[in-house]
Amino acid sequence: MSPFANLINGAWVDGDSVSTNRNPSNPADIIGEYSRASAAQVTQAITAAHAAWPAWAATNPVERGAILDRVGTALAAQAERLGTLLSREEGKTLVEGRAEVMRAAQIFKFFAAETQRLTGEVVASVRPGIEIEITREPVGVIGVITPWNFPMAIPAWKIAPALAYGNCVLFKPADLVPASAWELARLLTEAGIPAGVFNLVMGRGAVVGPTLLADARVNAISFTGSTTTGAGIAAEAAKRFAKLQLEMGGKNPLVVLDDADLDVAVEAALQGSFYSTGQRCTASSRLIVTEGIHDRFVKALAARMQSLVVGDALDPASQIGPVVDQAQLDQDIAYIGIGQAEGARLHCGGLALDRTSGGYFLTPALFTEAHNSMRICQEEIFGPIAAVIRARDYDEALSVANSTAFGLSAGICTTSLKHASHFRRHAQAGMVMVNLSTAGVDFHVPFGGRKGSSFGPREQGRYAAEFYTSVKTSYICP
Ligand code: NAD
Repeated sequence: MSPFANLINGAWVDGDSVSTNRNPSNPADIIGEYSRASAAQVTQAITAAHAAWPAWAATNPVERGAILDRVGTALAAQAERLGTLLSREEGKTLVEGRAEVMRAAQIFKFFAAETQRLTGEVVASVRPGIEIEITREPVGVIGVITPWNFPMAIPAWKIAPALAYGNCVLFKPADLVPASAWELARLLTEAGIPAGVFNLVMGRGAVVGPTLLADARVNAISFTGSTTTGAGIAAEAAKRFAKLQLEMGGKNPLVVLDDADLDVAVEAALQGSFYSTGQRCTASSRLIVTEGIHDRFVKALAARMQSLVVGDALDPASQIGPVVDQAQLDQDIAYIGIGQAEGARLHCGGLALDRTSGGYFLTPALFTEAHNSMRICQEEIFGPIAAVIRARDYDEALSVANSTAFGLSAGICTTSLKHASHFRRHAQAGMVMVNLSTAGVDFHVPFGGRKGSSFGPREQGRYAAEFYTSVKTSYICP
């Protein structure tokens, strides 16, 4: 049996093939061979989850909470090992890898406690002698589909609330990062999750996805990934009215006004645009800068960019790790060419580094003289690439910020309360940041966007109950 098998109905089961998990800092370093589930195995997992659901839904919430709490404790205790593994398979730096595992631990702890906080409402009826009770019930079996860029945190913020509120789970991680998913499954089994309640089905989206989407016993789908894949999933889910939550791409603006604190603005841009190799849905890929500060901002940001250490994710000195794989590197380089062909100026960076390890290293790239209509300003690149767009004043900057098909996160750097307040109200985004990077969020408050970035209820915090529970209104005539 493969050392890294799928988890179906409480048993570790080989798939019909394996995927080779490689280290993007050093592709010759093979992390392991991970099982890929066949379509028939996905159906077996659905059958198991469907059968396990009534008993799990009826479990005492304290018992469910205790299991989730144990997972949180184990994640925190093993953050060093798991964070290193995460960095090795995804390419974010060790600091980022460990922080992500700690984030996952916090999420499991948060939802462990939430099991005991689910409440309903009692409302007076308009008819005499009748009582109305509004309660929340588990939805059933949840299909969880996740991307490669946060291989531990995103699964955690879907799986933990799903289980907390009494649902069973089929977890399909991205094919590029099965190791973090497999470790999470192992911790869940060690924490005592009953057979069938949580199932891991690793493999290709094109194989696992359609089976999961077509089966009416999967009551809801929570997906995070690209907008293109999300649109396909929405079309399939709509055919049978499955409950759906989609978190997708971003083209997040960071507005920098003349009155901004230059150091704050430069750090926000640097952090938001390039850390995690720019591979974040909340990355600041459009830097919209007003005339009076433009040149000083570009100069200071470029200077900070030159000081960034790009290198092996497992080297503690590295600040920017590799791009996730060759295909993503090719896409990043192609967009650099597209930006130049469109007339933007490649101010600095954008060089693929020739390292003996063969890793997919790209120096952070900054475009200037970009226009919002350019493809580099409208399409999600998902790499360490940002474009500076000039704006006359605040009004134009806001208009440019909102001129996008996406709406996940939007930031502004300013010392003006008036402009900060106006931006908070008028930015068309699910999350707004003032004097902060567009990336970097807390784990206990809602996360999500608008327009092409999100569909359905918010994730995380207490708002997660909107998706992972179903509302029931009972009329009682005593
Ligand atoms: P992707 O869309 O290629 O894949 C996401 C997941 O969907 C993977 O598990 C993949 O195997 C699966 N999938 C692919 N085809 C499928 C199908 N036909 N049916 C069912 N599942 C299928 O995305 P990715 O490249 O893994 O991740 C990068 C994308 O994720 C970026 O667009 C990024 O913005 C987005 N993202 C969004 C958020 C957010 O919260 N908004 C967070 C992180 C990443």
